[in-house]
Amino acid sequence: MKVTVDDDSCRGHGVCAALCPEVFTLTDDGYARARRDEVPEAHQIAVTEAIVACPERAIHLEEETCL
Ligand code: SF4
Repeated sequence: MKVTVDDDSCRGHGVCAALCPEVFTLTDDGYARARRDEVPEAHQIAVTEAIVACPERAIHLEEETCL
C-alpha cells in the first residue's frame, strides 16, 4: 500500500512522526512528509495507528490493485 500526506490538511502536530518515524518525517517548517510511498509490511500497523491518530485526517492510504 502507498501512503501520502495531504499538504493542505496537515497542521504539523507531529503525531505521525512520533508513532512511525520510519515512514513519516517532519520538514524544517514542521509539516509531515512520507519518507517513502510504499509502506513496508513491518510498519503497516504503525501507519494505520498514525492515520487514526492524525487530528486533521491528513494521511491517506492507497491500496494497490492487481489488474
Ligand atoms: S499527525 Fe497529521 S496533521 Fe500532524 S503532522 Fe502528521 S499528518 Fe500532519
